[in-house]
Amino acid sequence: MARSLDSPEPARHVTLVTEKRGKPPVADDLRGRDRTHVWHPYAGAPPAVPMFPVRRTEGVYIELEDGRRLIDGMASWWTAIHGYGHPQLHGAVAAQLRDMSHVMFGGLTHRPAIELAERLVDICPEGLTRVFISDSGSVAVEVALKMALQYWRARGASRRTKILSFRHGYHGDTLGAMSVCDPVTGMHSLFSDTLPKQLFAPAPPLGFERETTDDDLAPLSEILQQHGPDLAAVILEPIVQGTGGMRFYAPEFLRQVRKLTARHDCLLIADEIASGFGRTGRLFACEHAGISPDIMCLGKALTGGMMTLAATLTTDTIAQAITNSDPGVLMHGPTFMANPLACAAARASIDLLLEGSPTPWAARVKRIEQTLRDALEPCRTLPAVANVRALGAMGVIELRHPADMAIVQPALVELGVWLRPFGKLLYTMPPYVIEEPELLKLCDAMYAVAAM
Ligand SMILES: *Cc1c(COP(=O)(O)O)cnc(C)c1O
Repeated sequence: MARSLDSPEPARHVTLVTEKRGKPPVADDLRGRDRTHVWHPYAGAPPAVPMFPVRRTEGVYIELEDGRRLIDGMASWWTAIHGYGHPQLHGAVAAQLRDMSHVMFGGLTHRPAIELAERLVDICPEGLTRVFISDSGSVAVEVALKMALQYWRARGASRRTKILSFRHGYHGDTLGAMSVCDPVTGMHSLFSDTLPKQLFAPAPPLGFERETTDDDLAPLSEILQQHGPDLAAVILEPIVQGTGGMRFYAPEFLRQVRKLTARHDCLLIADEIASGFGRTGRLFACEHAGISPDIMCLGKALTGGMMTLAATLTTDTIAQAITNSDPGVLMHGPTFMANPLACAAARASIDLLLEGSPTPWAARVKRIEQTLRDALEPCRTLPAVANVRALGAMGVIELRHPADMAIVQPALVELGVWLRPFGKLLYTMPPYVIEEPELLKLCDAMYAVAAM
């Protein structure tokens, strides 16, 4: 039945369907209904613990269906850097919606994608001039891997098919991306017959301020020496290894990796999906070391948490090599590539970040770092705490034993905050717009849980 858009009877068909089945939905049993059909990330079905239904989000707050308001210390998995419901982001998407929500990207192009690509080239490390827009971080990594493999094929070095990654690395959940995740935390054992076998160097030594020694680099150097001619690329998360351990490392280490990869004629892929857009205190983490990678992946905060979008950037050299040799194309093309709504959100989010209202983003992140350092410091004396660290808008308490989520998660909600510890890591990466009292409340909750 066709129904005009401005029909005075909204969603009449919904009523009909439920009437027919004689079972009206129980609006207040969202938890039960969720358990019946919905699968959650890294969970069983049904999951071991019930989920918390959310009604709405605003600023740095998540409001639950039961009315409780939680300060979001996760920025929805690093994405919502401007907080929720920012009028400029909503305005940009609403304006784009009036023109078009989506159109295929094969054979067609549009202003939102072009302007986003221009902005990214403008702000990303030098030399990254070609932008492939995709749907999610994992896909951006797959595209990066394909770029590297196709580049070497084009150069006639089809022997270069291996990727070198670091222990404790995390690059996504699709099979190609998984193959370069830490073999232990990435549970390679579950998929060992399917995953491509890659090479792994020891994790970069812990500590942003640490002095990098020859010993720190020796294992990597040795692998490059031994396997250089088989390597397509080295992939890493610059400065902060996120999901694989919330580990911060020294800019000098990154600088030396860049040097070593260049010396061995090996491409460097910087996965800035977590670190990009200011999280580490620089717009991109590569800037701490003053380096440019050959390929760079972006995602997470790209749209300011509005919707899913990712990008893979590379150099003219790599793009030209791929284009000038058979088959002359990069073999990838997602159905929803460069979705205009998401591109418009990303464009607006980048503008908002750079225009810096009310205070420039870098100053805000600096202040967050200082507060996290000061407020988390007392946790160091707690018997359950192994390490405390902060960098940019990231604060981490490493516990001696994994947190019991069945107890810890409800306790955090009871304390009025949303944090999602994993394993031994209790951490926060709040929206940059968070105010001091809210940030202190997050830190207090982290202390309380670490002291439990
Ligand atoms: C989250 C993340 C990914 C994967 O992104 P998805 O959007 O979840 O697919 C890849 N690399 C890093 C460093 C990440 O933090």
